[in-house]
Amino acid sequence: QHVPMMDLNDGRRAPQLGFGVWQIDDALAADAVASALKAGYRSIDTAAIYGNESGVGEGIVRSGVAREDIYLTTKLWNADQGYDKTLKAFDASLKRLGTDYADLYLIHWPVPSKDLYVETWKAFIRLREEGRLRSVGVSNFQPTHLERIIGETGVVPVVNQIELHPDFGQREVAAFNADHHIVTESWSPLGQGGDMLKNPVLAGLAKQHGKSVAQVVLRWHIQRGYMVIPKSQNPERIAENFQVFDFELSAEQMRSIDGLDAGNRIGPHPDHLD
Ligand code: NAD
Repeated sequence: QHVPMMDLNDGRRAPQLGFGVWQIDDALAADAVASALKAGYRSIDTAAIYGNESGVGEGIVRSGVAREDIYLTTKLWNADQGYDKTLKAFDASLKRLGTDYADLYLIHWPVPSKDLYVETWKAFIRLREEGRLRSVGVSNFQPTHLERIIGETGVVPVVNQIELHPDFGQREVAAFNADHHIVTESWSPLGQGGDMLKNPVLAGLAKQHGKSVAQVVLRWHIQRGYMVIPKSQNPERIAENFQVFDFELSAEQMRSIDGLDAGNRIGPHPDHLD
């Protein structure tokens, strides 16, 4: 199946659907990544704090898919914020991943209490200029944090990866992103596999389309124009989550899913995570 490519504000492109690897043990990450690449995914989302960059790198090699055909994202952990620390942390990530460049690097959380995210962003810009980093982005940034990095550097992140699922719609941050040509990327797009997947509205739509609830939810993200990175360790589910380009939700069905937004945040609020 064909994954749509999204245009980024720096002239590059990225696959709309990728594979997330949070909470996959380093020893199991190679298998999971190889399964995902076999199923057709060409984008992988990891982070230094996930502790599985080595396994991800190994999975890429094992898959036989060429590095340049894969869109690889990793993230700078909070403790490594600051100009010099960022440069060092990026090198360490590349080393563990076994590659000489990253397609996308994200500031994992703004950590406003430390007030280092602007310095960190300046280091990201330098890494991009050096060519070992293709695109610069952020994660868990609220509009105030975005305004500050854009205001102080003039460089707009290509992506803002935020918690987003049908019962946590994030309409304000997504609208701010869109106004600034920043792609909204949904993390925990399936609500971490929790009760949301039992919602009767979603179950009804799944039945109508002959699809699973997870596929309906992922299709909703795609049609809303978000980049999306579901995670699974199960090869069947990994493949299932990729089969979302052979059906379409109607405008009315999209609205019924939009209506499920109950403000159910699962993770921490970005203003308060240190
Ligand atoms: P997710 O919403 O992708 O849910 C994953 C869980 O859903 C699985 O563990 C499984 O229990 C269930 N599941 C998966 N496929 C299913 C299917 N087809 N049917 C039924 N159940 C299914 O959760 P996530 O891992 O938290 O988020 C996805 C990715 O987002 C992560 O792996 C990571 O890459 C990224 N992420 C980023 C941040 C951040 O701060 N930037 C935070 C959390 C996650």
